[in-house]
Amino acid sequence: MVQLVTEGPEYDAAVAIWNGAVTSRPVVVALCTTTADVQEAISVARKRELPLSVRGGGHDWAGRALRADGLVIDLTRMRQVSIEGDVATVGGGATAADVAEAADRQGFAVATGTVGTVGMLGLTLGGGYGPLSGRFGLAADNLLGAEVVLADGSVVQADDELLWALRGGGGNFGVVTSAQVRLHPLTQVLVGSFAFPYDEAEQVFRGYGELLDGGPDELTSVIAIVAGPDGTPLISVAPTWSGDLAEGKAVLDKFAGLGTPLSATITAKSPLEKLREFDGAFPDGVRYSIRTRNVTGYTPEVVAALLDGYATRQSPGTFVNIHHFHGVPTRTPIESAAFGVRQDHFMVELIEVGADGNWPREASTLLAPYSLPGGYPNLLGADDREQVAAAYGPNATRLLRIKHRLDPHGVFTAIALPAGVSGDMGTHSDN
Ligand SMILES: Cc1cc2nc3c(=O)[nH]c(=O)nc-3n(C[C@H](O)[C@H](O)[C@H](O)COP(=O)(O)OP(=O)(O)OC[C@H]3O[C@@H](n4cnc5c(N)ncnc54)[C@H](O)[C@@H]3O)c2cc1C
Repeated sequence: MVQLVTEGPEYDAAVAIWNGAVTSRPVVVALCTTTADVQEAISVARKRELPLSVRGGGHDWAGRALRADGLVIDLTRMRQVSIEGDVATVGGGATAADVAEAADRQGFAVATGTVGTVGMLGLTLGGGYGPLSGRFGLAADNLLGAEVVLADGSVVQADDELLWALRGGGGNFGVVTSAQVRLHPLTQVLVGSFAFPYDEAEQVFRGYGELLDGGPDELTSVIAIVAGPDGTPLISVAPTWSGDLAEGKAVLDKFAGLGTPLSATITAKSPLEKLREFDGAFPDGVRYSIRTRNVTGYTPEVVAALLDGYATRQSPGTFVNIHHFHGVPTRTPIESAAFGVRQDHFMVELIEVGADGNWPREASTLLAPYSLPGGYPNLLGADDREQVAAAYGPNATRLLRIKHRLDPHGVFTAIALPAGVSGDMGTHSDN
């Protein structure tokens, strides 16, 4: 029988998610250890007419793991990872670090994000940008199979249609109790870390865009506007090279020339060590708020909007983090998976730490005129209506058709889909 808790330490641990601004309190948490537990939890929710949510790694900033007065399907006991050949079978609640650690022991790397504590499947189902994306694709592109408990309580192995939807359409189709993920033989990457003075920002962004334009798949980089250790803003550039190390050194050396480096290091690490770089950097329980935009390059207008936006920040910890989307995922046909953007772009994360949550929206409005329609579904709030409407591009109709077929009553209210078919997908917080 599934363990149901309504109070006590296990309840508190389940509802203690990453974003401390989320205030939704479910009435019951189902601590699942097996697929049968998940089926039973869905049945309990149906009988008691409780809204459902699914908690994996608990890192969705909008708090969709919890629903007020609802039942939470908690997957944090389902973190097992096993490897056969170059395929990992991953439990529904495994973190990115769980998968990367198991992969590392066998000489493999996994396409995941930048932070190990994030849920592997939460990240994967919505897309999954990371330092290996340029070479190996999004996390979603590496999803090979899934066992799913559907809204009616049945267990299925995802067929082609469901797998297509799971590669970017989020947790809108059922609970993924385990999944098969492609691994890649890779034991070392070259990790660059460069910091430049804030007053060189325009030059650094311009040069950075030029350096990455048409660059090799093996090079995937992040640029950020962030406060340094003494609180002074700076521009941080963090390229990862996943090809031949000697070749990569020459490529990464070029980043030092973007400005006058305050610091510059290039270090060989295992992909797992790279993933652990930010352990503890974004603590749980702090108030966060995030908005996102996709831009295609660093034109003077885009850079001005980024810097003008940053200048209006209300809290010192606020930062802008920008992932590069290029290479293999851009050569993946758009119709091959639900994920709705396949053109080269930079995914901008506007992240406020510890304030009232207004700044990201204002900064996002400044960027809007220079952005692609839509945005990264994993980071869009349900209230980002215009962006949600465009996020799946030409894939929206097919995605909604699958949603209607598998979950006609909108039991699963995960990342927002266009046209609001998945019911109340509100941001369950006081943001
Ligand atoms: C510190 C931090 C760093 C991040 N870094 C990156 C990054 O580098 N790249 C990137 O692309 N994104 C990144 N993200 C965004 C992240 O991918 C999403 O927030 C993702 O939804 C988190 O998944 P989770 O399981 O941890 O979250 P949860 O809050 O537990 O889950 C969010 C939702 O995902 C769905 N879900 C999760 N697991 C399952 C499952 N097994 N079956 C069905 N549905 C499920 C459910 O709808 C659930 O409500 C980051 C977020 C944070 C907070």
